Amino acid sequence: MPDMNSQTDLPAYSSTITREALRVSQVTFRWDQSQGPIAFPEITLNNGEHLFLRGPSGSGKSTLLSLLGGLILPDTGKLTLLGEDLASLTSGQRDRFRADHMGVIFQQFNLVPYLTTLDNVMLPCRLSRKRRARALPTPEKEAESLLTALGIPPSHWHRRVTGLSVGQQQRVAAARALTGGPELILADEPTSALDSDNRDRFIELLLGLAAEKHSSVVFVSHDQSLAARFDHQLALEVTQ
Ligand code: ADP
Ligand code: MG
Repeated sequence: MPDMNSQTDLPAYSSTITREALRVSQVTFRWDQSQGPIAFPEITLNNGEHLFLRGPSGSGKSTLLSLLGGLILPDTGKLTLLGEDLASLTSGQRDRFRADHMGVIFQQFNLVPYLTTLDNVMLPCRLSRKRRARALPTPEKEAESLLTALGIPPSHWHRRVTGLSVGQQQRVAAARALTGGPELILADEPTSALDSDNRDRFIELLLGLAAEKHSSVVFVSHDQSLAARFDHQLALEVTQ
């Protein structure tokens, strides 16, 4: 049986060898025949850099994050993550790649409702040996320190995550994405449910913690006022 980890054990992922977190080159994607293809601009992001991606509803922001997450593959063009062409991996290898190297914050957070706050944060470490090895000093201690940094008090850690407010759940989703220091964090409009004070504070915390862990970030929002905090920004347009 092939070793599913062999691809992800290659030293090519080491930041000392490739400085590039991601590259999108001449990528198009078409959801169905009734719509035209979405054409994406050229994107290059180096390790540790933070990209703000904006654009009106329907411009393909979520589609691009699905491509970056390896959930869908480009129809044309090439997309490389940490030097790896995702199209050359099997779907099982892409799942493993995502678990090992990416933290994703969805618009709806996608927390596991029957797990506690702490167990939700530690989930990536259960799914990935690499994430577990990078969660220092232990997955539990790292989860606790991320939750503390994000302002979730210990009284919530052992409760079901569904008992938390929307703003708290969003920060739990951020802690889960950051745990085990993945090279790449993808965030799809995670602040849409927050007022502007909480939104600014959340972004500051997310980017500060990502910088500590040297994670690259792709942050999607339609709110241009957030862009100033990022190294790079890019606007998608409706091209269909
Ligand atoms: P955004 O996140 O910027 O609002 P999306 O990536 O969700 O944009 O959508 C871009 C285009 O792709 C839209 O025309 C949308 O209808 C279409 N689309 C997105 N997701 C799907 C899907 N799962 N099935 C079919 N069409 C989709
Ligand atoms: Mg979207």
